[in-house]
Amino acid sequence: MGVPPSRPADRALTRPRRRPLAALAALVALLAVGAGVLVDLATPAPRPADAPAGEFSAERAYENVRVIATRPHVAGSTANDQVREHLVGVLRGLGLETEVQDAVAPEAGQLSGAAGGATVARVRNVVARLPGTASTGRVFLVAHYDSVQSGPGGNDDAAGTSTILEVARALATGPRPRNDVVFVLTDAEEACLCGASGFAADHPLARDGGVVLNLEARGATGPVIMFETSRNNAKLVDVFGRAAPHPVGTSFAVEIYRALPNDTDFTAFLDHDFVGLNSAYIDGGAIYHTPLDTPAAMDRGSLQMHGDNALGLAREFGRTDLRQLRSGHDATYFPVPGGLVRYPGWLTLPLALAALLAVGALGWLLRRRGRATAGRLAAGVGLALVPIVVAPLGAWLLWTAITTVRPGYAELLDPYRPVWYRLAVVALAAAVLFTWYALTRRRVGPAALAFGGLAWLALLGVLLAVLVPGGAYLTTLPALAGALAGLAALGTRLDGPWPVVAATLAGAVAVVILLPPVVLLFPALGMAMGGVAALVSVLLGLAVLPVVDLLHPQAGGQRGLVALRARRLGALPAGAAALAAVVLAGVGLAVDRFDAAHPVPTHLMYALDAGTGAARWLSHEDAPQPWTDGYVDGRTDVSADFPGLGDGELRAGPAPAADVPAPKLETLADTRGGDQRVLRLRVVPQRTVRLLTLHVETATATVRSATVAGRDVPVKARDGRWGFGIVFHAPPPEGVELTLTLVPKAGQVNVRVMDASDGLTGLPGFRPRPADVGVVGSHSSEMLAVARTYPL
Ligand SMILES: [Zn+2]
Repeated sequence: MGVPPSRPADRALTRPRRRPLAALAALVALLAVGAGVLVDLATPAPRPADAPAGEFSAERAYENVRVIATRPHVAGSTANDQVREHLVGVLRGLGLETEVQDAVAPEAGQLSGAAGGATVARVRNVVARLPGTASTGRVFLVAHYDSVQSGPGGNDDAAGTSTILEVARALATGPRPRNDVVFVLTDAEEACLCGASGFAADHPLARDGGVVLNLEARGATGPVIMFETSRNNAKLVDVFGRAAPHPVGTSFAVEIYRALPNDTDFTAFLDHDFVGLNSAYIDGGAIYHTPLDTPAAMDRGSLQMHGDNALGLAREFGRTDLRQLRSGHDATYFPVPGGLVRYPGWLTLPLALAALLAVGALGWLLRRRGRATAGRLAAGVGLALVPIVVAPLGAWLLWTAITTVRPGYAELLDPYRPVWYRLAVVALAAAVLFTWYALTRRRVGPAALAFGGLAWLALLGVLLAVLVPGGAYLTTLPALAGALAGLAALGTRLDGPWPVVAATLAGAVAVVILLPPVVLLFPALGMAMGGVAALVSVLLGLAVLPVVDLLHPQAGGQRGLVALRARRLGALPAGAAALAAVVLAGVGLAVDRFDAAHPVPTHLMYALDAGTGAARWLSHEDAPQPWTDGYVDGRTDVSADFPGLGDGELRAGPAPAADVPAPKLETLADTRGGDQRVLRLRVVPQRTVRLLTLHVETATATVRSATVAGRDVPVKARDGRWGFGIVFHAPPPEGVELTLTLVPKAGQVNVRVMDASDGLTGLPGFRPRPADVGVVGSHSSEMLAVARTYPL
């Protein structure tokens, strides 16, 4: 690769003699810092039920979790009515002004799963107010009390709901806050964020905006992460760092979250004039939205963390002048043991450029001092790209191999027991780094390789500062610390203690900054994207390369036979890490088997055309599990027959027709004038359903405007046979009225209506699952849909 042979000057940097004690001290120091980082990310111990009244007690809150998550309580269900009655009872019992907002509300934001057209829901939000003594604005604590249809929502979001009840209790029993505190327990979050949307848009208490603290759970355990903020968050983040007892949050998470197709109630508030913070715990994602999301699955340490932070923030925002909260900029922030580092976002680019400059200065000085030639420095930069590319690729290959052995993982957000696989990915990243180092160190020299690693960190810092400013600190600060340490070390005697001290300090900075994202990215993105954590692991490895070098058997510049032995030993760390990766992956496969407590997830639904009597089993599994295989085979596009199920292909198989009635379509009025026709219709479900949909055939009419339950809905143009459509969640039993203003294209207008209930038990041909086969956490799992076309 055109690298000149070793010169005396290069060898000078390869340390005149080995210093095993210094190496050991540096390693111990970094391990201690790493342990401190992990302890800082751990959840607190749950406080008992007899904790002082002013404190948050996870055990007290958990009593409400058990009541809320007794069974699935999807919006509109009787179970949901019972949960709501309980919430109202608890809040009224605290002496708070409590009411139920009963409204028809549109969806918020852009839901990735929104199928079939404009979405609305009938919602019933529980709203309670603790009036402030001299209010400067309102603080809103928000969580959704509805669950998915496929699980009881023990964590999602009984965690947030019960946290708010316990925070309300603690606040109501203490001195009154200065600002109004409003507790908002929303409905129909799972369906369409409609409860939050209806509250933010229409409730009198929401008129002037305010600060929203949204509480969520997308798993069963792990630290509570403040992962989303409103724009221009500097002052909010400052309060968070000051008032949350466990301030785990990073400006990088905000950037990642914006790129993911997820939404929470917080989105609905951001659509209006609110600022705020969004927090959730996300580890243990295997149970997310499944029947396994029970109260028993909850880690009460995570609940305690939610409560500690929510109570601390409610008190602080309760006393802060809320008129002063807006600031003109976003902050960069990240957790360090004992607190939250934050600095203004406008510093991001200058810092990134400073890091690049410092790394450049280090390269210049290395060359000037004769520690590395220009050619070697260039080779170091070029070669450092290799592990950056290979490690994520390796992680992807490893996961591909694991899912080939265990295809059931494809439908899971994360395995049930992911820790072994996560460690395997980290070991794999280490193996890549060590192999690369053993192969390149002797030819290029440790100084040039360390320089190459820092150069990439600095370059990535500039790139991130421009594209993803909230994440730039991840590489900028380790690069800056590494370069400054290198510059400082070059100013001292090479065989003195200071180079080791400088390398260790810079390594500690890298560990503090890059270890939390490695830990948090695994649950955030799931194993399928473990490559991202592998990438961050390798960046961390590159940042601590001088310490890695201290441990390298070749360090010391031996010659002859000793050098040969050292070279062989040099392969040792790489071999050990590679072996660890294989063993850990194997342990993962052995430990995380599917069984009755950890069932393989399957997806099945049933769709009946009541007009033709044709019925189908449908599944969205890409590679169907054996159980699902008994129902479906080929792929079908169902959008022509079931536009309410959305676009995209599904697995399908023939099913016996069930005796289930389609929703009725009643024409209440039909007026014609000019080229227009105005249809006033009522869709009446003939059974208990979760949602109903209505679509107009494009070939028969063009819809100009539409109102649903008195609410205007947007007229979205969709491709395919059915252009205009609406989806109504939690419809009342008496049905839903709508008015369509349309231009007919033919003599009759074809309207297709569909409704859907939950549960397949009792359908002809349906066999209950064996114990080790479970239900995928999906909004369409176990759905029973019935459709019919009405010519009008
Ligand atoms: Zn959910």
